[in-house]
Amino acid sequence: MPPRELTALALTITPFPTPNQDERPPEVNDIDTLVLHYTGMRSANDALNRMRDPVWKVSAHWCVDEDGTIYSLVPEEMRAWHAGVSWWRGRSNLNDHSIGIEIVNPGHEFGYRPFPAAQMNALIQLCEAIQARHVIDPRNVVGHADIAPSRKRDPGELFDWARLAREGIGVWPEPVAEPDPTLSVTRPEQGRHVRDWQSRLTQFGYGLYEDGVFGEETEHVITAFQRHFRQARVDGVLDAGTGAILKHLIAADD
Ligand SMILES: [Zn+2]
Repeated sequence: MPPRELTALALTITPFPTPNQDERPPEVNDIDTLVLHYTGMRSANDALNRMRDPVWKVSAHWCVDEDGTIYSLVPEEMRAWHAGVSWWRGRSNLNDHSIGIEIVNPGHEFGYRPFPAAQMNALIQLCEAIQARHVIDPRNVVGHADIAPSRKRDPGELFDWARLAREGIGVWPEPVAEPDPTLSVTRPEQGRHVRDWQSRLTQFGYGLYEDGVFGEETEHVITAFQRHFRQARVDGVLDAGTGAILKHLIAADD
């Protein structure tokens, strides 16, 4: 028998239990964040086996294979170990209050490729079921790269965040009318304008020191932002399009 919480889900769930889990901290009352990953390994089997190997101390609540098979690894009330050192909207240790989904894909290291339709369809149904169980602000549907931009690239610029948003999962910017065509902020610029952009990035949720210096950290955050919201150009430069999308997303949330 599947766990009772899964019976509303019209999906076939394949149990794949792992010891890589523990209790959520007692002060965490609500699960309010959804973190999406890619597995970044050569095969689904490699990734699944790693997530149940106690030596590696990694896991996720769910794993979605390329054919749409959904594996259940960790019960949602427990803490899975997927986020690592992380930050979003003023909070660290995202494992504490999030649900983690691993999406099978070799990733940038082993042959990054599009996410197949069967996989996306299964993922969307899984996310819908999760959102029926927990109150998750659309801005708290994030990629691993968003919450750990200096370490992570997943799920990356081939992941169809726009489609998720159309299905009611996460946010996506409207087309921006008139971006400032002269804007181009990049390393190693410094100054008030850099600080203003850093402030907008942290306001949206990214972890970043607002020091007015466009250094490596800021470049990583811009790159993560582009992988999520501006996938046609991922170069770490705060150009007109990137800036306009960021402003739009902040304005839409006010
Ligand atoms: Zn990840």
